[in-house]
Amino acid sequence: MDLFSNEEPSIKVRTKKITASKKKILFNRVIGQSKAKFLLEKAILNERIPTAYLFYGQEGSGKNAMAIEFSKALNCTSGSQIPCQTCDNCRAIGRLVHPDLKFVFAAPAKIKTEDVVKHIQKLAANPYLPSAYSETAGILIDQVRELKRTAGLKLYKGKYRAFIISGADRMTTEAANSLLKILEEPPPKLLLILITSRLDKLLPTIISRCQLIKFSPLKETDIVSALEKEGIEPGKAKIVSRLSMGNFRKASALLEEDYNAMREQAWLLLIGSQNGDDFQKLALIEKIAAGKSRGQIKELFHIALLWLRDLQVLRIRGGDLQEDAGFYNADQIEKLARLNDKLSEVNLDKTIVETENSIDLIERNVYINLILINYVTYLFDINLSQQPR
Ligand SMILES: [Zn+2]
Repeated sequence: MDLFSNEEPSIKVRTKKITASKKKILFNRVIGQSKAKFLLEKAILNERIPTAYLFYGQEGSGKNAMAIEFSKALNCTSGSQIPCQTCDNCRAIGRLVHPDLKFVFAAPAKIKTEDVVKHIQKLAANPYLPSAYSETAGILIDQVRELKRTAGLKLYKGKYRAFIISGADRMTTEAANSLLKILEEPPPKLLLILITSRLDKLLPTIISRCQLIKFSPLKETDIVSALEKEGIEPGKAKIVSRLSMGNFRKASALLEEDYNAMREQAWLLLIGSQNGDDFQKLALIEKIAAGKSRGQIKELFHIALLWLRDLQVLRIRGGDLQEDAGFYNADQIEKLARLNDKLSEVNLDKTIVETENSIDLIERNVYINLILINYVTYLFDINLSQQPR
């Protein structure tokens, strides 16, 4: 099935006269996502705006950001470049305070209004932020009832009334059924944007009434240029984007963590495993595992992979340590050289596979210390077998 087809019989597509012919659409506040942008631009230029969109795909891929920019574009009063970011509608939507816009997210039932306002303000400042509320929070029937109440009201100053429902998979069954009623008989000028990273958790009856737009994990190069725009130094941007797995939210979080300390520990894991007796190895494992979550250990292995990939490049280049070789750890050339000496006889391909296996085991919930012991033993054994006797 072509998920992007306009021909779905159950989807209501409105044809609306807007003078779009000379308009240029610029979604440049959204990182990457050229396919999603193309489809949404086409909808605006062809004046075919469905009642409901469903943006789905990986977390941190820019679904909230896109929903906000799309709502701006539809309501922008500029005649040429949209969203212009300067007209009243663009500015108010950007701050998520436009009277014709509602941004709904999962929150605890007894949340205070001031906390809702605070969260909305943060999100408006950075739409790539994660939701502040735990997995147990939901989107409740009252939130959808409020949407229903306002859905048919006269527009205040926008051209469309936009409801953005972020984390739509967190709707309670009651809330979802209530939303379904809006979708079945939508008032004119209503645009619903449902957002989820867990498509399988949504009612099929809701999915079938929405036009689906997929958000893929971001490309490394897109994350790098977005981070560089924010003033992050290129070497760091490159490593963080590699570790983020196409998730900009994760990339931002990594920047806040003490990344250099993690890199040092990954290096120690690789180089330290080559030294000492069993007792020293256990001490190393304890040091590395101390106070770290599963996710952080996984990150550590990903960082170890980057050291190993640098070694691969270094070997291909015959040991040439020039800084322009495109190393992930270009700012740590001395450490790279020491690691290269230490692992000079080691089969890197096999070690990379072993590292990837360890990451796989972490994802499968195997006991962390056991994974570390196996890994360290592996590194030690291959080194030992290559020692001259
Ligand atoms: Zn505007």
